[in-house]
Amino acid sequence: MLVDSHCHLDDERFAEDLEAVLVRAAAVGVSRVLTIGTGDGPPEIDRAVRIAERFQQVYASIGVHPHDASKVTRQTYDDLRALGAHHKVVAFGEIGLDYHYDFSPREIQREVFVEQLRLARELHLPITIHTREAWDDTIAILREHWQGQGIMHCFTGTPAQAKEALELGLHLAYGGVLTFKTAEEVREAARITPDDRILVETDAPYLAPIPFRGKRNEPSMMVETVKKLAEVRGTSPEELAVLTTNNFERLCLRPANATRYT
Ligand SMILES: [Zn+2]
Ligand SMILES: [Zn+2]
Repeated sequence: MLVDSHCHLDDERFAEDLEAVLVRAAAVGVSRVLTIGTGDGPPEIDRAVRIAERFQQVYASIGVHPHDASKVTRQTYDDLRALGAHHKVVAFGEIGLDYHYDFSPREIQREVFVEQLRLARELHLPITIHTREAWDDTIAILREHWQGQGIMHCFTGTPAQAKEALELGLHLAYGGVLTFKTAEEVREAARITPDDRILVETDAPYLAPIPFRGKRNEPSMMVETVKKLAEVRGTSPEELAVLTTNNFERLCLRPANATRYT
């Protein structure tokens, strides 16, 4: 059994065939999925929760993506707080900083990131972090404002950056990028990530692994990433499946969170 710890099932590219996508995933062992709740940003922030209500094997996160930081109002935080009590909500995110696109001013991104860290703490939810071309600011903010569990999603950094994130107590989630030819540094980071801190994800519909690169990604395609990751770490896909599933359960479905899952 495998868990896709990060995908976007509310994306319009899944509107036509979401049920078939989940059936294909289950057929190859991807029997649980965490769908990310950031959608197109506020005011609509419950799309993932609605999907999780429809499918037993789907869990949801809530949060505002850094791209949408400038759309946040006081109401948004109230809405997030209310959604945080939902029994299928098991994580907060993806939150963080994206200086590549700069869709929201950087200062606002930082402010909204910090505010959401506070909220995640209040809701006792682990965070899932998005960081792009903003590594140092992301780490600095986490050091100052976060004590708790979390996931560096779609980790594509260097081994040194992996160590920084691990020192903060974070888990590292590897996705399709790990299979790309040029991603030798990412594979090196994956080699040194401890057994109890590693996760896998798709970030579907984005970043399909080889040999599907360029196509719409979906949770079933994660088996290619798992194969590669197992090879890199000198283990078997089966062992890696057990490891990453246990890690996900401990992180997001822990007993303290028992009322959050069905
Ligand atoms: Zn992301
Ligand atoms: Zn994502």
